[in-house]
Amino acid sequence: MRRPLVMGNWKLHGSKASVEKLLVELMVKANEVEGVEIAVCPPLVFVGQAERLLRYSQIALGAQNIDVNRQGAFTGEVAADMLGEFGVRYVLVGHSERRAMHHENDDLVARKFEAVKAAGLIPVLCVGETQAERNNGETKDVIGHQLQAVVKRCGRKAFDNAVVAYEPVWAIGSGQAASPVDAQKVHEFIRAQVAAQDPASAQALRILYGGSVKASNAQALFMMDDVDGALVGGASLDAQEFSGIFNAAL
Ligand code: PGA
Repeated sequence: MRRPLVMGNWKLHGSKASVEKLLVELMVKANEVEGVEIAVCPPLVFVGQAERLLRYSQIALGAQNIDVNRQGAFTGEVAADMLGEFGVRYVLVGHSERRAMHHENDDLVARKFEAVKAAGLIPVLCVGETQAERNNGETKDVIGHQLQAVVKRCGRKAFDNAVVAYEPVWAIGSGQAASPVDAQKVHEFIRAQVAAQDPASAQALRILYGGSVKASNAQALFMMDDVDGALVGGASLDAQEFSGIFNAAL
């Protein structure tokens, strides 16, 4: 059995005051929950504050990005080892906003995936098609390439101790989530692709759905066989809404 994972991706939101308020509220709500793993990914600058606040909590800490380099003359960057020191467990790689706005291609994403693993942390590989790719019937092609780039770099067991998040680009922030049946079809495809490399890692792999997940649509998504949790953007900034989502995963 795969333990469900519900992660909040705060993107570029928050202040010291709002981080404290949200985490305190979430800790109370998470205390009542067992059987689902909960994680939050604040902006990097709040990771230290979040670590202190979450010290006695079961909520795990994630980060939204890292650099591929471990150290050196790379102004403005942060390495996975540094985040590990702050108790970070998960790191998002290949989020569509970084692919689109920061020119991260499949190869760079694969290198980031590798760097996260090298630091002993868990990469959360985000994959997904744009609206145009979906209209052209290219969903599986696009996702197949995104997965293949990681296998090429990290080998057949790449997805051991990793997470994949299927995030159709058209569903992110649009209010229009994929239907549970459509999400399941893609999740099944992802698991089959991973199984072709290594059946055991495919069986253990958690595949999250992301894109306009809310408390009201989470349960129907989580009922699908291959949906093992969610990566939540907007709705993770509200404790009531986010707790509605992680409670739906029970
Ligand atoms: P959303 O974002 O839940 O606001 O659609 C999801 C994501 O980008 O991870």
